[in-house]
Amino acid sequence: MSVASRLAPFGSTVFTEITALARAHGAVDLGQGYPTWEGPDFVKEAAIEAIRSASNQYPPSMGIPELREAIARRWETDTGLAVDPDTQITVTSGCTEALAAAFLGLFEPGDEVILFEPVYDAYPVGCALSGAVARYVTLHHPGFRIDPEALERVVNPRTRAVLVNTPHNPTGRVFDREELEAVAEICRRHDLIAITDEVYERMVYEGTHLRLATFPGMAERTLTLSSIGKSFSLTGWKTGWAIGPESLTAAVRAAHQFLTFTTPNPMQHGAAAALAAPDAYYDELVAGYRRRRDLLTAGLAELGFDVTVPEGAYYVLADHTPFGFPDDVSFVQHLITEVGVAAIPPSAFYPSSGEGRRLVRFAFCKDEETLGEALRRLRRLRP
Ligand code: PMP
Ligand code: GLN
Repeated sequence: MSVASRLAPFGSTVFTEITALARAHGAVDLGQGYPTWEGPDFVKEAAIEAIRSASNQYPPSMGIPELREAIARRWETDTGLAVDPDTQITVTSGCTEALAAAFLGLFEPGDEVILFEPVYDAYPVGCALSGAVARYVTLHHPGFRIDPEALERVVNPRTRAVLVNTPHNPTGRVFDREELEAVAEICRRHDLIAITDEVYERMVYEGTHLRLATFPGMAERTLTLSSIGKSFSLTGWKTGWAIGPESLTAAVRAAHQFLTFTTPNPMQHGAAAALAAPDAYYDELVAGYRRRRDLLTAGLAELGFDVTVPEGAYYVLADHTPFGFPDDVSFVQHLITEVGVAAIPPSAFYPSSGEGRRLVRFAFCKDEETLGEALRRLRRLRP
């Protein structure tokens, strides 16, 4: 079966569709998660300098040493754990390619991978690409907590891995120690691989970002994926990485070397400069996001939405049912065409249940003027 046929059921991504619709209607775009501002100059300058100084040929497949070393230093600062940049770190073209390489490198057709729903769309696609079977555990509205019993129920002899995204898109959950320990315990007991998607690792407003790789017995079975897209407001750079034990890294590299071979050289130099940023950079980033989160959640609540305040990432999931629409798709259609505001209908993130139909996702990686204009337009809605 061709890849195109295997992916046909997924259609085109909801992000592409909503972005196009938003542009066609001149809607204020709180849909796709890209910032309305540009990334920091010190990162852009490092990439420009790399272009000027002849860093434009093929870099090593696993990534330039400067970036792998910067990733290792950051990891050691954050976790207190040492990683070997030569055998445990792979630079990829965004977290998206790291995910594809992990799925293709690690799984055999028929292997089962546990995913939490609402799910980021690249995970079921990774299953379809590799022939792995997705098994869903739903995070129920409004708390969106991991239920260890529900997790245990889907584990069976074919289960190979659990994928956790924290901070979580789209719920904004930052999973706590109890929830992640339950995941770790199941991984250890059933000898499962953990894959963690931590692209929103810096966007934490409540609680603490905990890394599954730091839980007892987990470093040797966890692949941690991230990228600089969100943390440095450079979503178009598509420069990411996978950190894990040698065996898992070897599987990722086996796929990565033939997917893209490598990641654009100047962006890797920029990313290395980014990861050397002082803590003050992140403090400012988080302070700005907290302000925008508070502005949007307060505004939505005032308009009559039932809002779950996100602990992390940069999305708000709100319950739109007070406005009387039958589902998320018709609500978003109305928002874009009649109200002039674009948002994401989350049923795209719910392959196994209808729980997304009552919800709508707004992104707050948008400047305060844009958020203010969106809220002004949303006043046209009547509960
Ligand atoms: N994972 C999640 C949960 C995301 O929201 C995104 C959004 N871009 C990605 C991965 C992709 O990251 P990248 O742009 O680095 O490929
Ligand atoms: N991660 C972004 C979001 O959730 C979209 C990335 C993409 O377009 N694939 O909005």
